[in-house]
Amino acid sequence: MVTYTEGRRIVAEAAEASVRAVPRARERVGLEAAFGRVLAEPLAADRDAPPFDRSTRDGFAVRSADVATVPATLKLVGEIAAGADFRGAVGAGECVQIMTGAAVPRGADAVVMIEHTQSSPGTITAQRSVAKGANVVPRGREAKAGAQVLAAGQRLGYAELSIAAQFGHAEFAVFARPRVAILSTGDELVPVAQAPGPFQIRNSNSFSLAAQVTLAGGLPVPLGTAADERGALLAKMEQGLAADALVLSGGVSMGKYDLVEEALRSLGAEFLFDSVSMRPGKPTAFGMCRGKPVLGLPGNPVSTMVTFELFGVPLLDVLSGAPVRSLPLASARTKLPIREKASLAHFLPARLSRDGGETYAEQLSWQGSGDAAALAQADSFLVVTERQLEFAAGEWVDVLLRRDRM
Ligand code: AMP
Ligand code: MG
Repeated sequence: MVTYTEGRRIVAEAAEASVRAVPRARERVGLEAAFGRVLAEPLAADRDAPPFDRSTRDGFAVRSADVATVPATLKLVGEIAAGADFRGAVGAGECVQIMTGAAVPRGADAVVMIEHTQSSPGTITAQRSVAKGANVVPRGREAKAGAQVLAAGQRLGYAELSIAAQFGHAEFAVFARPRVAILSTGDELVPVAQAPGPFQIRNSNSFSLAAQVTLAGGLPVPLGTAADERGALLAKMEQGLAADALVLSGGVSMGKYDLVEEALRSLGAEFLFDSVSMRPGKPTAFGMCRGKPVLGLPGNPVSTMVTFELFGVPLLDVLSGAPVRSLPLASARTKLPIREKASLAHFLPARLSRDGGETYAEQLSWQGSGDAAALAQADSFLVVTERQLEFAAGEWVDVLLRRDRM
């Protein structure tokens, strides 16, 4: 039995080793298609940023010495819009009207904000002094031409895409999204489109897992369902091992028909853990099979979702070529008292709210790990561990945010 933290580390290390053995595939993508992808090459600045001494304000480019004592009246000798090429210079006692984003002209060393001036025809009067360099970002201060601005392994969010665009990288190499085979196991499962018999269950895990895989940056490869029967399991598992990783739900507990681990072992899998001190999610199993990571998640829908968040996301981060993201944890005051008995990590569906400048978490009533309806009302989980199992109302508790509700 491992803790969930140890389990996450084991998953990440095993995934690293598998990637060292078979390097990740790369592909070229354009900026438009790059959101969320992971850079496979560093990107450099193609020129200084800013490319010229840039005014950060609408106002007047001045010699700071001229406005050392105010009010100071200056002769207005021109105007510079963003994008304009101003050939003149600012002499003593002079100023040039300048817009945000325009190049500060020769002679000037600061910009007085328009709000701090008064205009009359041909002159302006500065009411405030400015220090040398005020409201100006000097050329190259943000980045020097040739310097690396984005590293290989960086995930491209909106700020990173902005940087790639600013430095002219319309297209670049990213790592291929890891393909993650998803197999739901259980005799009782029927496809969603089929009418379930009185004791049958619709396969929902394949869909929650596909969403979580996508959210984590992977490409889901849906394998449908397999019955709790060796032959059926082996056939689908073989198929799944063609992907970069195989994620299964169901069949990892202690029941007579929980055959997933055994079937995987017969295909050569070695398990690095098959029990985690957490609830839900205790029977989670992780191992390597023919060089591919395999993650066996318990089949109760909430267990499947929580365990994918804890173990599937770091697995996909590594396979994607990105650093492992830390868990989206926060702190909140619990609205209700908490009293857990079992000495393990508990993940309890909760909803956050703000009140009086503080964040509160309200534990939702639920029927345990099969109760996905409760989770559909939740935006987070209370995380209650062996370190402290009981909380009074108002006490601070850790909460794990639902990644798709952030
Ligand atoms: P298991 O992990 O196989 O013991 O299954 C635990 C519970 O989860 C049982 O009530 C199953 O019917 C349910 N379950 C298993 N797989 C799925 C699935 N793919 N979709 C919805 N419920 C499932
Ligand atoms: Mg089952």
